Amino acid sequence: ERKKKRVKDRADRATVEQVLDPRTRLVLFRLLQRGTLESIDGCISTGKEANVYHARSGNNSIAAKIYKTSILTFKDRERYVEGEYRYRNGYCKSNPRKMVAVWAEKEFRNLLRMHEAGLRVPRPIMLKGHVLLMEFVGKDGWPAPLLKNAAISPEEAESGFVSTAWMMRKLFRDCKLIHGDLSEYNMLWMDGEVYIIDVSQSVEHDHPHSLEFLRVDIGNVIRFFRDAGSPVIGMRALFEFIVDPCVDDRKAEEILGRRSHDLVEDDALFSKVFIAHKLDHVLHFERDAEAIQEGRETNNPFETIMSKVEVVKGDEAFDDLKKEKMREDDSEGTAGDTE
Ligand code: ADP
Ligand code: MG
Repeated sequence: ERKKKRVKDRADRATVEQVLDPRTRLVLFRLLQRGTLESIDGCISTGKEANVYHARSGNNSIAAKIYKTSILTFKDRERYVEGEYRYRNGYCKSNPRKMVAVWAEKEFRNLLRMHEAGLRVPRPIMLKGHVLLMEFVGKDGWPAPLLKNAAISPEEAESGFVSTAWMMRKLFRDCKLIHGDLSEYNMLWMDGEVYIIDVSQSVEHDHPHSLEFLRVDIGNVIRFFRDAGSPVIGMRALFEFIVDPCVDDRKAEEILGRRSHDLVEDDALFSKVFIAHKLDHVLHFERDAEAIQEGRETNNPFETIMSKVEVVKGDEAFDDLKKEKMREDDSEGTAGDTE
């Protein structure tokens, strides 16, 4: 039996009033006053970076995600925003409230893009500063469980794996995004389907770190569904399935059809490779794919990616290399590094 979190009334309302800062209360008050929301009646989640509340508007259940305006917890997020063309001007480090509003906006836009591409995500409804209203995923005020807490059968795990793989492919190809924090903690399970949430940190596919993020997402997804009893494909195969422009839908079916309970693929090796991130040119996969279809001369971008993969000794080495790369990217003076 899965645990359900009741969306409570009075007790949580008290919490709401305790936790929310005056500005947030003002935003919510206005939403209530205007009738956009009829009630805010329970807390679904209190996280490090945001709280999520259940609200009503007419017969509709709404999830209100309210970002916290504390600067400290947002510090490590710079990594995601730097290198994003969309946010080259709008990221104000000195003003936490503005900074948080940028995150809310990022999540709103990403949700919109994903929703329009037909991915199963909560439909974004409205953005007011650092308050994001979206469709509530759940029933009768009960939020759908996180995939992590859902009791799913091996058969459900298998269909979940297949649909998640297709969503990741669409996310990359149609939305040009990489989730960046995809795991059983940011997927909900309802009526035998996976819903993807928490996309404020999702990055454009040409972000300097996009392929590293994708690699982690891929690892999480394979691990979770494999442990839940699904046959899976290897990391490298899933990577191809998602990004290789030469993999059309028919070929994609084929790759996914090769899932199995005992992988023979050399994932151990793949998980230890470092994917170079200066790959801007190879990610113009649409143009390249067109060229390939028209029989024009081109480098297969995926081959290019793979040829740039450097095999390093182990996870430790991988981590060191990653840190080093990030340091370079931050273009902070390396002179101080004397260890
Ligand atoms: P964070 O992880 O940054 O705190 P999330 O977007 O992951 O924020 O949301 C936190 C939790 O709130 C989720 O784990 C989920 O349980 C719940 N939640 C978020 N969005 C929705 C939604 N649209 N419908 C139902 N529950 C949601
Ligand atoms: Mg989350």
